[in-house]
Parts: sequence; C-alpha cells; structure tokens
Amino acid sequence: MIVVMKTDSTPGQIEHMATQIAGLGLTPQVIRGTHQTVIAAIGDERPGLTEVLEAGEGVEKVLPIMAPYKRASSEIKRDRTVVKAQGLEVGGKKVTVIAGPCSVENEEQIVSIAKTLKKLGASGLRGGPYNPRTSPYSFQGHKELGLKMLATARAETGLAIVTEVMAPEHVPIVAEYADVLQIGARNMQNYQLLQAVGDSGKAVLLKRGMSATIEEFLLAAEYILDRGNMNVMLCERGIRTYEDHTRFTLPLATVPYLQEKSHLPVVVDPSHGTGKAKLVGPMSKAAVAAGADALIIEVHDDPEHAMSDGAQTITPAMFSELMAQCKRVAEAVDRTM
Ligand code: PEP
Ligand code: MN
Repeated sequence: MIVVMKTDSTPGQIEHMATQIAGLGLTPQVIRGTHQTVIAAIGDERPGLTEVLEAGEGVEKVLPIMAPYKRASSEIKRDRTVVKAQGLEVGGKKVTVIAGPCSVENEEQIVSIAKTLKKLGASGLRGGPYNPRTSPYSFQGHKELGLKMLATARAETGLAIVTEVMAPEHVPIVAEYADVLQIGARNMQNYQLLQAVGDSGKAVLLKRGMSATIEEFLLAAEYILDRGNMNVMLCERGIRTYEDHTRFTLPLATVPYLQEKSHLPVVVDPSHGTGKAKLVGPMSKAAVAAGADALIIEVHDDPEHAMSDGAQTITPAMFSELMAQCKRVAEAVDRTM
C-alpha cells in the first residue's frame, strides 16, 4: 500500500504514520520526493487497512501497490534511483561505462587495462576473481588473490570495482574489496545470495537470469531491496532463445520497459548478450539509443589469449571507437557520456 502524505504534512505526521504502519505489522518505507512524501507500507494487506491509514493526520490518500515487486516498482517512487559507488553513478543524465576483462588474470594485466580504460572514459572496472564457468574444467579464477589485484587497480586509477560474488559465504570477503557486487545470471534466483548482498549494504549489479521473465527479474531485485538496500542496478545480459547466431538474444525493449515499471537504473551487457566481439559496438549504440543508464563491456589487451570469454571481448582500440560513437548517440537522446 502507498500512503500519500499531503504536500503540507509535517515531519511529525510522517513519523507518526510510519510508526502506525509498523504497529500494524507492515514495514514502512518513507520516500521523500521533490513535491510530496509517500510512505510505502509493505507486507500482507488485509481488509480494513486502507480505512485505518486514510484516517491518519496529514494523509492525502492511500493507494494499493499493484505490482508484485513492491519496492522495485515505480508506483512507490517516481524519481529515478541513482546508484552511487566510489565515484560511479548510474541512473543520472550521464550514461556510465563499466569495462574490463571477463577474468582477472594477473596483476599486471588488470592494472594495465584499468589504466587504459580510465583514459578512454570508463568509470568502473569489471573483472572476475570468482568466475562462474559453464564447465568445471575451465579457469575458475584467482579468488582472494584476484580481489587484491582489483584493489591495486582501483588504487592506481580510482575506478570503482564491479565484481561477481557467487555464494553467500563469499559476500563478506568480496564486499571488503569491491565497490559493486555483481550477481551473475546463473545466480539470479539464488535467494540466500540476494539477501546476503542486500544485507551487505553495498551497491549491487543484478544480472537477468538467461531464462527469467521480467517479473521474475524484478522480484529477484525485490529480495535485495527488501533487506533495506536500495542501491540496485538491473542488468539485461541477454536471454536464451531458439536463435543461435549469437550466444544469447539481447532484447533491448527490456530497457524502456524496466524503466517504466521500476525506478532502478538499467545496465546493458552487449558482451554476454551477443557473444561476438564484432556485435558489441553496434549493440552498445543501440542500448544507449534505447535509454540504457550504463553499459558493462568486456575489454582485454589481447582477447585472443584471454582466459575466458575471448570471442566476445573487444580490444582497447575497439572500445575507444565505441566510446566515441556512443557519445554521439547519447547526445542525440539527451544524455551525456
Ligand atoms: C560475467 O559478467 O563475466 C558473467 C559471467 O556474466 P553473466 O552472469 O551475465 O553470464
Ligand atoms: Mn564473461
């Protein structure tokens, strides 16, 4: 339920309503907008509740939240959420770029590519010391040693570190080094992991499961928000379809659709979304044109010899060209880059 407060309601009335909502067994969440404050009352709705809340002082009206994902829904928050982490800002006018290799291979590699990416305009550095690999025989990552390498790259460049966490028991160690915790597509419905990253208070980049519907995706985000962590970005990374000319099918209608249904920023991953380096540039431009708030892109100095995902990884030269072209697209749709 949404308790809409009158524009001239006092802080005391708002606080009183929040306490009353809690007393009714619901969780209150006060959302202060530019013109009006609303209080989301989350929990089991029962008959008679609307009337009780409507009688409160300073209350203008009480509305139901129609979407099953209550906290992620744009019904409770009209202003767009801007996720902030170590200088990285996603959800504002600027289209942000997170880039880096699929895996953190060694310190020299990650520091060198980080410096290049920083120069070329990236704000975040991606790279996995914990890699979810389809085959158990593929390189699995350097674990904590890799996290330390990422921390060195951040110290040298100031880039925010975006890295995947695969298990609830790894959240404390990954959160110690990372600025943004990534939940991979294969873990989108790992509810204990979602709750653990929610509890960490760190910004989260949640990837869409490869066979998840948008409603399932937003309900996964809801698990994180429900722990009081509103710093969540939604990442479209492609879905599994009958089509096999690309690794996955990258549906860009997701971008404006999610932005209509939710206040959370939307990131697009054209690397995993296509699986082909040549398609990363064109799909990045398309994503920016569709309104994406950020891009996350795999870049490596020598993609041919990358330890994972080389086929979809672009070179710094390709990244530089992509940035220049995306910047022009961003300007055409009233964004900056
Ligand atoms: C990745 O970002 O390297 C990754 C494994 O992504 P996804 O979970 O989208 O497959
Ligand atoms: Mn990858």
